[in-house]
Amino acid sequence: MRALCWAGTDELAVREVPDPELRNAQDMIVRVRRSATCGADLALLGGRTPFLAVGDVLGHEFLGEVVEVGPEVRRHRPGDRVVVCAAVSCGACWFCRQGLFACCDNGSTGPAVTEAAWGQPTGGCYGHPGALGGFAGSHAEYVRVPYADVGAFRVPEPVSDDRAVFASDAAPTGWMGAELGGVGPGDVVAVWGAGAVGQLTAGAALLRGAERVIVVDRHDDRLRMVQRHVGAEPLNYRYVDVAAELRERSGGRGPDVCVEAVGAEAEAPGRWGGGADRPLALREAVHSCRKGGTVVVLGTWTGFVDAFPLGAVMNKGLSVRSSRQHGQRWIPMLLDRMARDELRTEHLATHRLPLERGTEGYALFRDRADGCVRAVFSP
Ligand SMILES: [Zn+2]
Ligand SMILES: [Zn+2]
Repeated sequence: MRALCWAGTDELAVREVPDPELRNAQDMIVRVRRSATCGADLALLGGRTPFLAVGDVLGHEFLGEVVEVGPEVRRHRPGDRVVVCAAVSCGACWFCRQGLFACCDNGSTGPAVTEAAWGQPTGGCYGHPGALGGFAGSHAEYVRVPYADVGAFRVPEPVSDDRAVFASDAAPTGWMGAELGGVGPGDVVAVWGAGAVGQLTAGAALLRGAERVIVVDRHDDRLRMVQRHVGAEPLNYRYVDVAAELRERSGGRGPDVCVEAVGAEAEAPGRWGGGADRPLALREAVHSCRKGGTVVVLGTWTGFVDAFPLGAVMNKGLSVRSSRQHGQRWIPMLLDRMARDELRTEHLATHRLPLERGTEGYALFRDRADGCVRAVFSP
C-alpha cells in the first residue's frame, strides 16, 4: 500500500510499505477515508522524538471503512464506517476502567521509552511508531486497529467524513479541556491557541454553558474563524495586553478557566524527557487566571519546563490539570452532537489533499500557510 512516511528530519515521502495484517484476535483493519494532520506530529516531523525510524508511517487522526475483523471483534463488521480514537488503549486495565484511557497500562508495545521519560508507561498512539506504542499511522491506505471494540466507533449516517474525522482526536481533546476545567454555566473561559483543538475547546465550553469564551492567538484569519464558526470572542495578543484585556472581560477578576492549547512542538526544540519546552502561552494563562481558578494544559508537551510560574500557582490558589485525551469516553457523545448539528468541525479541514500530496499538506500546516488550520488527506 501507499503511505506517508518519515524520511529524515523535516522530510516526508510517500512510499510503498507492506499492507497491515491482523495480529491479535481483537484487531481489525480499516481502509482510510480521511486522515488529518495534527500539531503533535510536527515534533515527529522535526525529528525530535527518539526511536523514530526512516520509513515509519505518521498520522493518528482518522476515519475509514472496516475491511477485516479479528475473531474476537464484536462491535464492528466489514463495511462499517468508523472513526478511530487516536489513543490506543486496552479498555480492561485498572486505568482504562477508571476512564483514564490515555493512561492505559497496555496501550504500548514498547513501554520502556515512556517509563524512562515520565516514570510510568502511558497509552499508545497511532503514528508514533517507536515511542508511543509501536503502531503504524493513518497517513496510509490501510491501518491496523488493535483493541477494535474499545477504540473504534460507528459514525452516524448524517455525519460527513470531513466532520467526523475530528472526533478522532481534536474534538475529544477540546471536550476534555472544558471538562478538566470544570466549565459550567456562567463561567468566563480563555483559550490560548486558535488551532483545531483551541477552537473545539472554545466550542465545548460554550456547549457546557460558559457565559463568555475568549480565544487568544496571533493569526487574524484563525480568530475570524473562531468568531464565525464557534461563536467565541477573538483576542489577538499582538495588539493588546492579554492579562489586562481578560480582566476587563471578566468583571475585573480574570477568567475562571484558562486553557493552554498551544503546546511545545510548533516552536521549541528539545527532545523527550530532556528537552526544554518553552511555556510562553502557559505562563500567560497562569498569570491571567483568576485566583482560585483552573489552568488546563492541553498542548502537547514532552520534556521539562523551566521558568514555570509555580509561585503564581501556589499564591493564587490555582488548580493545574492536564492529560492526553481519553477519547473513548466522549467520542460516542461527540458523534451524537455532530449528528444533531450542535458540533460542526468541517471548517477546520481548510485543505483537502490526496495522500500523494501529503508532503505539501504538512508544509502548509507547519507554516500556517494559506490560512491552513488542518490538512486532511484521502488515499
Ligand atoms: Zn492529534
Ligand atoms: Zn488499559
